[in-house]
Amino acid sequence: MELGIAGRTAIICAGSKGLGRGCATALAREGVAIFIAARGADALEATAKSIRDDTGARVATVQADVTTEAGRAALLAACPAPDILVTNAGGPPPGEFTQFSLDDWRRAVEANMITPIALIAATIQGMMGRGFGRVVNITSYTVKMPIGSLELSNGARAGLTGAVASLARRAAPHNVTINNMLPGPFDTDRVRSNWTRAAEVSGRSMEDVAKDSVRSIPARRLGTTEEFGATCAFLCSAHAGFITGQNILLDGGAYPGLM
Ligand code: NAP
Repeated sequence: MELGIAGRTAIICAGSKGLGRGCATALAREGVAIFIAARGADALEATAKSIRDDTGARVATVQADVTTEAGRAALLAACPAPDILVTNAGGPPPGEFTQFSLDDWRRAVEANMITPIALIAATIQGMMGRGFGRVVNITSYTVKMPIGSLELSNGARAGLTGAVASLARRAAPHNVTINNMLPGPFDTDRVRSNWTRAAEVSGRSMEDVAKDSVRSIPARRLGTTEEFGATCAFLCSAHAGFITGQNILLDGGAYPGLM
């Protein structure tokens, strides 16, 4: 399917690895000029080169910590008027509620709620004025199905979900959509570091934790970053203008509820 977004411009936050990289690659394949941000220069430049070589798209890099004001300013200076904004950042660490400090909570809210809100606030009026915009927030299936050890993530991401819900309706008349993608377990570094931590806490082997985790997914496998990126590209496409304010689960059937 031709997605109708060739020539558009996109910011993809935290795009050098994992889910962000999947989104960046899929958008570049559609002829979108992409700006990818991450903190580490080596992975960022390697990813940019690989996407350029694979797709021939324009790929710019911004070495920035998107959870800081300076990092976001650098990203927006490089691409002040994106047509597409994919918000993303590293997830908060797992842990135990009673052990988290208030600063842990502040960091989680800053990274996974305030950062996407700041980027949306800086770009959405331009999108509405131009009559096209697609915002995709990468959140987590923990928004619908909270996981015990991920309370920092559950809280901050649920806050973001609430914060953008009515804005999505206000932006809709201008052909600007805001949707959230809710990944379950995907095959990325993040999932492996969660398994390592779970193994340490439980005293079990990493392999056992991994096996149990995969067994709990009806699809009996992890998701791939290609699958994630393809869904993101469709949500950013010209055809997806009637999909807004949605929380789209990609979890191999893990969430057990009806809706
Ligand atoms: P990943 O494979 O570890 O990749 C994380 C990416 O984010 C890297 O490119 C990293 O590059 C970048 N990054 C992290 N912090 C950043 C920051 N402050 N500023 C700019 N870039 C930053 O992680 P992932 O699995 O793709 O996860 C992406 C998000 O989805 C996370 O919030 C994660 O919690 C959430 N999630 C993932 C899963 C899963 O199964 N994978 C499931 C649910 C939710 P640098 O380190 O160089 O900055």
